[in-house]
Amino acid sequence: MKVEDKAHEQNIKLKKDNGCGCGSELNKETSQYRTENEVGCDCGGTDNPDESHIKNPKKPKIIADQDFINDFENYAHSIGIKDIGYAQIIPDLLIRDKFIQYPNAIVLTMEMDKQIIEAIQGPEAQKLNDSAYKKLADISYNLSDYLRKHDYATEVAHPYGGVVKFSQLGEKAGLGWIGQSGLLISPELGPRQKISAIFVSITNLPIKDDKQHSWITDYCEKCGKCIKACPENAIIEKETCCGEKETEFVKELCIGCIQGCTSCIEKCPFDEKGYAHIKNRFDKMNSILKSKKIEI
Ligand code: SF4
Ligand code: SF4
Repeated sequence: MKVEDKAHEQNIKLKKDNGCGCGSELNKETSQYRTENEVGCDCGGTDNPDESHIKNPKKPKIIADQDFINDFENYAHSIGIKDIGYAQIIPDLLIRDKFIQYPNAIVLTMEMDKQIIEAIQGPEAQKLNDSAYKKLADISYNLSDYLRKHDYATEVAHPYGGVVKFSQLGEKAGLGWIGQSGLLISPELGPRQKISAIFVSITNLPIKDDKQHSWITDYCEKCGKCIKACPENAIIEKETCCGEKETEFVKELCIGCIQGCTSCIEKCPFDEKGYAHIKNRFDKMNSILKSKKIEI
């Protein structure tokens, strides 16, 4: 089957709506933190300009060898990308009614400068936040051009949002796990990162089914600092239709994109103390609890 035909066939599947959020394909295999529309402070821009300098090839290649992937990753790190993951797009990852050409994604993270977190919420903080989005967009288009130059077809998911649910995509790509704040928490950066993606014609991306960060869900259940820290009550706890506890991120209440609020990042222990420290403490606590249970 030609790549165009294959992409078309998969696109038809991608456009289908799965209905009930609780029973969705994604929820069965990933973290429990979900919202009706999407997860995380994705600013939801829709008409982001295509900043590509190179056109898509007419006959895109679909196979990439490991050397090419290594070269791509090295180049990405050299221009500011912190971490790279790979995922296949499933319908739940797309923002409703969005269409993408290629269902395989390269997922990119970039550190949010500490300056953004330290800035007092308001125009200045918003300006810093916007420039972080712009910086990641520039890097993403640069990497997309790199792929096009090597005869792979691409489509950039602008970090400002509007096409794909970035936190969920990052989780699916094994880059981290979604915390109660709705943000992706990664070993490298905790919740302090921006995410973008490149949909690409490569069909043999090194996708890993990696759930090593799923323990974060249990940690968040005991923490809840972001819920208390949110000045707008945009992170709320509620019960699902299945009777389970769920945290909802109410995008309409969040002032992260319009005022540069970052309270949920600032108060998150993963940002304060780092992933390794938290994991260590969590493991120690669990082994103490386990040994107490055995004694009983
Ligand atoms: S703390 Fe700020 S950025 Fe985080 S969810 Fe609340 S309003 Fe949005
Ligand atoms: S503040 Fe606590 S509950 Fe919120 S995301 Fe961070 S670890 Fe999870």
